[in-house]
Amino acid sequence: MPAIKVSDLTKRYNSFTAVDRISFEVPEGTIFGFLGPNGAGKTTTISMLCTLLRPTSGEASVNGYDCIREPSRVRESIGIVFQETTLDKDLTAFENLYYHAILYNVQRHRRKDLVRKALRFVGLYDRKDEPVKRFSGGMKRRLEVARAVVHQPRILFLDEPTLGLDPQSRTSLWEFITRLPSEEGVTVFMTTHYMDEAEVCHNIAIIDNGRIIAKGSPDELKKGIGSDLIYIKVTDKEEAVRLIRDRLSLNPLRKGEELSIPVTGGEACIPELIRTIGDLAVSVRIQRPTLNDVFLNLTGKAIREEEQDSSDTIKDSIREYRRRFDRR
Ligand code: ATP
Repeated sequence: MPAIKVSDLTKRYNSFTAVDRISFEVPEGTIFGFLGPNGAGKTTTISMLCTLLRPTSGEASVNGYDCIREPSRVRESIGIVFQETTLDKDLTAFENLYYHAILYNVQRHRRKDLVRKALRFVGLYDRKDEPVKRFSGGMKRRLEVARAVVHQPRILFLDEPTLGLDPQSRTSLWEFITRLPSEEGVTVFMTTHYMDEAEVCHNIAIIDNGRIIAKGSPDELKKGIGSDLIYIKVTDKEEAVRLIRDRLSLNPLRKGEELSIPVTGGEACIPELIRTIGDLAVSVRIQRPTLNDVFLNLTGKAIREEEQDSSDTIKDSIREYRRRFDRR
């Protein structure tokens, strides 16, 4: 039985369709990334799965419980970390978790042990008696993850868990999240618009304008693009381009100091390329497509504006690749 099963799930706000007939499954004990740009429908979806929002149509089950007919069962079996912090800043870390354990009907004799275990899990046991208002942003997020797992849910929902955190806090939070499936048997469903986070997920679905436009493992999605990029620095660009075109029927693009060449099956092409241009070669590197390239390929835009520039090279290459493909 999948941990989460969604079929044709839809949410409309008046005439606006925020989530449009989405379907996917999340296998138990895996990390599932729900990836998409701002306003794509991620929070709306997570809210429906957590029974905070009633779907307009379609079906969803979580831990085998129906999200519309059995909301209490769903809620008992999940943990949630919202985008905005919901900790009580005047209480200590221990108290925040302890009150949560009471709310979730954790048996009295188990509460303290479970709270301590969760605090140790996220590395905050030594700070357990400090009020949360003294914690940094990263520590608060870790504490929220600890609170969300204190009642031992089978699925943890995280809505943009690392939003606004500095790189070090993001890394440390990620370490805890990625340990959850193997150490605690927890299935993780998380929304993100960070590519590097989506890369670590077992499976992802990419949502844009309320629709799922791709799903699979990160590798499967990237393979779907069909090309790697070889970047090669040469002493004479014109001559190298001529040789590569004439002898290998490849079409190098000039990119700053380098030539970029879209190829299928990256490394295998390098020896022939070097043989072809001989001494003209100064250095070679290979770049695999990223999930942002997958998104770019499907929608023609970057998932985050900041990623647009770094993706321009790949966009050019994809365009070129398609042009050549269409000509065949
Ligand atoms: P972000 O990454 O910015 O959180 P998101 O992918 O989570 O974005 P949602 O919050 O699910 O996106 O919003 C999806 C769309 O639905 C957006 O266009 C949003 O403006 C719209 N929307 C969300 N809530 C409501 C509401 N209560 N009434 C009307 N429209 C809404």
